[in-house]
Amino acid sequence: MGDGVFHDEVEIEDFEFDEETETYYYPCPCGDRFEITQEDLENGEDVASCPSCSLVVRVIYDQDLFMKGEVVEALPRKQLEVL
Ligand SMILES: [Zn+2]
Repeated sequence: MGDGVFHDEVEIEDFEFDEETETYYYPCPCGDRFEITQEDLENGEDVASCPSCSLVVRVIYDQDLFMKGEVVEALPRKQLEVL
């Protein structure tokens, strides 16, 4: 994706999530729906595209909430016990 012109910016909360396809949908003016998969979001992708027209929207979301396997480690227990 280059620096295309976004039709709009939409918060992820406004998307509708389909658990079967693990895809987020948002109504497109053309009558179809913009779509972006959960996997795309986990990979840092933030562009939802409509399969029926050339419009795209930028998805506003907190990537930290979608990253998987990136658990931030808390302070080591031992260090706390010493204190
Ligand atoms: Zn469309």
